[in-house]
Amino acid sequence: MNNVKYDGKSWNSFINALRQLSLRYDANRKLAEKNARVAPATYECATCGRWIYTGKKTLKLANIQAPEGVEVIQQFKPNGSVIKHKIDHIKPFRPVTGERDIFEIFRGLFSEIENYAVICNDCHNIKSKAENKFRREFKKLEKGTEEWDNLLEEYNKFMEQYLWKHYISYQQRVNWHNG
Ligand SMILES: [Zn+2]
Repeated sequence: MNNVKYDGKSWNSFINALRQLSLRYDANRKLAEKNARVAPATYECATCGRWIYTGKKTLKLANIQAPEGVEVIQQFKPNGSVIKHKIDHIKPFRPVTGERDIFEIFRGLFSEIENYAVICNDCHNIKSKAENKFRREFKKLEKGTEEWDNLLEEYNKFMEQYLWKHYISYQQRVNWHNG
């Protein structure tokens, strides 16, 4: 199946269709969201630890009781609608190397719960930006070359640091909740 060739457009439509299915049917994705819910319409960012209020009230009226030291945020789009939390694939379902491995993508879209993290829009932007930078760099290189391998190493290091940040943030949150 990996030998099937797709042109760029049909490949992207195909992946988008799969993505829509995962948004609707992936139970782990929903569970990850449920686990991150800390108050009504409020989710905890797994990266920075802030609480993201996604309701329509003002923050003052919503009166979310967060632990000491935890900031509650509410962000808006230019059109005034609320910016919600993101349910992020820690390991992106579209490999940054640009490889079109349908099984990898499928595994990514229907991930284990550990691969989902609820994060705020700011943290999501930072991560997406870094991933897109890697994507552009990989596009310029040929697989199997030394440059490719070096870039892959750099990317793996980035992911390691990202996961470490997650881990630390998680530990801190466990302490807050228990302390
Ligand atoms: Zn965050």
